[in-house]
Amino acid sequence: MTGLAFRHVSHRYGDVPALTDLSFEIDDGEVCCLVGPSGCGKTTALRIAAGLESLQHGEVQIGDRVVAGPGIDVPPEKRCVGLVFQDFALFPHMTVADNVAFGLRGRDGATRKRLVGEFLDLVGLADYAAKYPHMLSGGEQQRVALARALAPQPGVILLDEPFSGLDVRLREEVREETLTILRRAGATALVVTHDAEEAMYMGDRIAVLQRGHLVQLGRPDEVYRHPQSAFVAKFLGDVNWLHGTVADEVAESAIGPVAAAGIDNGERVDVLIRPEGLHLCRDPGAAGREATVVANHLLGHSSLVVLKLDQGEEVRARIAGDKPPAPGDDVRIRIEDDAVFVFPCKRQEPRNTG
Ligand code: ADP
Ligand code: MG
Repeated sequence: MTGLAFRHVSHRYGDVPALTDLSFEIDDGEVCCLVGPSGCGKTTALRIAAGLESLQHGEVQIGDRVVAGPGIDVPPEKRCVGLVFQDFALFPHMTVADNVAFGLRGRDGATRKRLVGEFLDLVGLADYAAKYPHMLSGGEQQRVALARALAPQPGVILLDEPFSGLDVRLREEVREETLTILRRAGATALVVTHDAEEAMYMGDRIAVLQRGHLVQLGRPDEVYRHPQSAFVAKFLGDVNWLHGTVADEVAESAIGPVAAAGIDNGERVDVLIRPEGLHLCRDPGAAGREATVVANHLLGHSSLVVLKLDQGEEVRARIAGDKPPAPGDDVRIRIEDDAVFVFPCKRQEPRNTG
C-alpha cells in the first residue's frame, strides 16, 4: 500500500528549478531516505509533501488520498503528516508532555493523556513528562520531537536533516534510537539527509537527488554496489577517479584494463574504483599493475594506502588490518571487479531543463 507518492512533481523558485519531474513512491511502513548534496531540492520535496510549499506541477499522494494535484490542495493540518526538523522546534515554555500533546489538539482529554503516555514510553521518556525542553540533552529533545510527530499517528512522518543539529558522537546514537522508534511505531517515514552514510544506515531504500532530478532509487546495497552514474558512485562513497578509452569492451586506464561492457570503441570513460576494491600484494612476482607506496594512514580497523602508479597518477587503497606497506615499498595492485564502475564521460550530469 502507498505510504507517500510523488508523481511528476516539478518546482521552481522564480528562474531556479528546484525539482524536475520527481516521481517515487514509499510503501506503507517503509523508511526511505532522500539524499543529495546541499541545494539539490530535498527540503523543497518535503515541504511540498507537507503542504508548506504549494505544489506547482504534478501530484502528491499520502496513504490512499491525493493531497495535492490539479485542483486539489489539502491544507497541511489535514494531510496527516508528522514533521521533525533539524532544530526540533520544541515549545520552550511547555513541558515535555504538553509538547507531545500539542499535536493532539481536538482529541478528548482522556485520549490525549493516554497517547502522550504511550508515545513518551515509546521514546523512553516516560519519566520526563513534567520537565521542560531546556532540562533535556540534545538527544532527548530529539526524542520528544519524534514523540510529538508520531503521537497523532500520521500517515507519514517527514524528517528534515533530523540529526544535523547534534554533535557527531551523539548523532550516531540518536539515529539508531530514531530508527528503532520508527520501526516500533511501524511508521512510514521520509528522512531527508545530505549524509550518504546516514541514508544507507537508515533507509530501507534511498532516493538520490542531483540538482532536482531523482537519479537513482534502490536499496542501500544496490545503490552502493551498482551506481548508475559517476555522481552516485562518488556521492555514496570514496572513489579513485581515473579516465580511460574503450577498445573491445575494455577500458585502458592508468591502473590497468577494466571491463567496459556495452560501451562503444573509442569512447572516453570515467573509471571509478572504490579504495576497498584495490588489493595490494608485496610479492614482486604477483600479477597486477606495479605501484609504489607514497604514504599510509592507520584508521583503526583499516589503513588507507596512497600509491603512485608508473604513469604518475595516485590512487588510494583501503586495506584491512593495521600493518600497511610502508612508503617506498613496491607492490602489485589487484582490482576487485565489483568495485569498478565505468561510465561514458558525457553521461555524467543530468541537464536541468526544469
Ligand atoms: P536542500 O534541502 O537539498 O538543500 P532546497 O530544497 O532547500 O535544497 O533548495 C533547492 C534549491 O532551491 C536551491 O537552489 C535553493 O537555493 C533554492 N531555494 C530553496 N528555497 C528557496 C526560496 N524560498 N526561494 C528561492 N530559492 C529557494
Ligand atoms: Mg534542506
